Amino acid sequence: MSFSSDTKAELIRLPLQRPCCVLTELSALTQTTGSLNLLGAGRFRLTWQVEQAALARRIFRMLKDSLGLSPSLHFVEHSRLGGRRTCVLTVEGEDARRLLVALRMMDPQEGFLRRMTPRPQVTRQCCRRAYLRGAFLGAGSVTNPARGYHLEITTREEGLRDLVERQLAHAGIPARHRERRGVEVVYLKDGQAIADALALMEASGAMLQLENQRITRQMRGAANRALNCDEHNSERQLTAAEAQLTAIRRLNLSALTPALRGMAELRLAHPELSLEQLGALHRPPLQKSAAASRMRRLMQAAAELEIENTEQETEST
Ligand SMILES: [Zn+2]
Repeated sequence: MSFSSDTKAELIRLPLQRPCCVLTELSALTQTTGSLNLLGAGRFRLTWQVEQAALARRIFRMLKDSLGLSPSLHFVEHSRLGGRRTCVLTVEGEDARRLLVALRMMDPQEGFLRRMTPRPQVTRQCCRRAYLRGAFLGAGSVTNPARGYHLEITTREEGLRDLVERQLAHAGIPARHRERRGVEVVYLKDGQAIADALALMEASGAMLQLENQRITRQMRGAANRALNCDEHNSERQLTAAEAQLTAIRRLNLSALTPALRGMAELRLAHPELSLEQLGALHRPPLQKSAAASRMRRLMQAAAELEIENTEQETEST
């Protein structure tokens, strides 16, 4: 199972709740997977074609249990597509008229057809979730977060694309869109935006899986950066410490002031520590700046001694 089909399976399992949401989700599913046939003599047929049997059952329950209609369900085997099955739901007769009115596709008084696809008024927060869920179930996909961030919903017309984008925008999720082979595609490319969209649709399992993946990726990135930084720092620290040791070994420690001698002894005893750590070991403890100042004076003394020795050597030759 792909991440996309796992996410859909999770959404399909969500219970059908408020009537307003059931109708909104059904509207989105009708926009994306449904079609309306005019049979003549004022008769209509609404059909939905989906590949997942579980989704067909969800639509069936919406029609039958929530709206009291009598849909029929059958399967079409595609010999050309490797025996893949499509589930087809159909509503006809008086049921079709009632449903067309409920989906605001037909004028309730005059009985004439207003439009070929539903145009729900999505104003309640609960219905926004339901609308996105329906659109995603009908025409959406999401890439496995281990491979990258991409969620998209395809729509057959611009009006529907705007409706999808508006629901996302209302939740503060910035979406982009483009046309692909005559189809309008609304898509998200940002991990946070996809997590928010999954949460909005109430796919909490998929959202958690994506968040875990994001955290793992962020932690791995941070650990790598820290490691690189540490290696870099400790290298610099060791080079500095080596220079300090060389300098201190040249000095006659008993000739130094107690303050400088203390610092020199600490460095000799702990070649691997930073000045800050040496300062902390000092009794009484020294700030990093004080430790650095003493170390500078030690280096200075060693440099002066070097000059003196060179001069003496020059004199004696
Ligand atoms: Zn609602």
